[in-house]
Amino acid sequence: MEFKSISQLKSLLDENKISVKEIAETYIKKINEKKDLNIFIYFNEDKIHDQVKEIETLSNDKILKGIPIAVKDLFCTKNMPTTAASKILENFKPTYESFVTQKLLNQGSIFVGKTNLDEFAMGSATNTSYFGDTINPLSKNNNPLAPGGSSGGWAAAVAADLCLGATGTDTGGSIRQPASFCGVVGIKPTYGLCSRWGIAAFASSLDQAGVFSKNVTDASILLEEIAGHDQRDSTSSDVTIPTFSKNLDSNIEGKVVGIPKEYTVDGISDEINGVWEDAIKSLEKKGAKIKHISLPHTKYALPTYYIIAPAEASSNLARYDGVKYGYRAKDPKSLDDMYELTRSEGFGKEVKRRILIGTYVLSAGYYDAYYLKAQKVRKLIANDFIEVFSDCDFILTPTAPSAAFPLNEKQDDPIKMYLNDVFTVPASLAGIPGISIPYGNDKNGLPLGIQLLSKHYNEQEIFNAAFALEKDYEKFN
Ligand code: GLN
Repeated sequence: MEFKSISQLKSLLDENKISVKEIAETYIKKINEKKDLNIFIYFNEDKIHDQVKEIETLSNDKILKGIPIAVKDLFCTKNMPTTAASKILENFKPTYESFVTQKLLNQGSIFVGKTNLDEFAMGSATNTSYFGDTINPLSKNNNPLAPGGSSGGWAAAVAADLCLGATGTDTGGSIRQPASFCGVVGIKPTYGLCSRWGIAAFASSLDQAGVFSKNVTDASILLEEIAGHDQRDSTSSDVTIPTFSKNLDSNIEGKVVGIPKEYTVDGISDEINGVWEDAIKSLEKKGAKIKHISLPHTKYALPTYYIIAPAEASSNLARYDGVKYGYRAKDPKSLDDMYELTRSEGFGKEVKRRILIGTYVLSAGYYDAYYLKAQKVRKLIANDFIEVFSDCDFILTPTAPSAAFPLNEKQDDPIKMYLNDVFTVPASLAGIPGISIPYGNDKNGLPLGIQLLSKHYNEQEIFNAAFALEKDYEKFN
């Protein structure tokens, strides 16, 4: 049994054609059938049944009543472990619920489990997890493909129909790139739209919660539920959150769509360019105006990101020292030894690499040359966008430079892996919203995503344009 959308399932529930218990049992069965994909770090049938009992007592007015949701295992959840896919948090049970997951619970959703990710959200293939690799459900013929990362588990969960929506985070592309690899919709909202409270921090000036879903309408429903001001996060915005789903409008006549020349990078396949071209034509046919634009500092985005994100990570991850919580090394000889062993044994290779890079760029003598310079370039990258948005409503780009690649590819060379983020990182540095929707396939039938960006807090217009595009894309129809 496959449900197409949140509203379809909600109507069945409202008309008493299905119960919360039956929904839960349906998804438990699906998840058990797909265990070999290693999508969930935490899946507990008894916990789901306990939730069902509580949800059944809620009024049907609750927007997400009975909707199966997967949660990236980076969000603190009070009744479930939270590992950030790291050995260092293997047995960590938070004593509180994150802001975002609490909002989803308040609306009656069923948490089907906690999904796999790259350790502490650092990666692009969900292959740095302590709990093993996640396999992209679209893999064929014994050729396991990466689901993208870091949120590969929840993109895969939506693609494999193990939930109807999922929530996670995007620091440099972790929502948009896996959405593209798995053929689902993923939106990273404006930095500050959703509270970071209760999310294990990677790079605090970039981390942002968002959602995955099967279609644009569902993404708009989920985002309006998780957004909102929270005084426990000083960067959380107090803007009024529109009811995105009620205001969806596919009329984009007269809107100006920027096509940045810097996103035509060497080595990108004709198929990706073709999908981009198709989306441009479709928007044009709907009355949008196409404008060729330039974002001149985009070429510095990747190196800038890979200085700022590790710098912040090295500081955020200093708290994992074996003292207050998480893993502690056995039989240390001294306090220093305990710190050293705990961190060497508790963190994986990629996390250690980021901590080393981050510590290096923040150290005396290198701070000005790397970190401070990167901050200045970040400002220039953000200014490029501000300038373009003075006469463009959106920017349209491919989401990723390739379709899903084999799981064992790019393992030997971190730079190759970092190149995956080339189209997603600029928007992260600028703090602007971005959505990825599937818009075509490569010659092997693998999905290719298209990315729409807009100015801060312009999620409604992004949804509208994505809604217009999905209307003529056969996958949705
Ligand atoms: N792939 C990027 C990185 O490894 C982005 C990850 C993310 O957005 N969490 O840092």
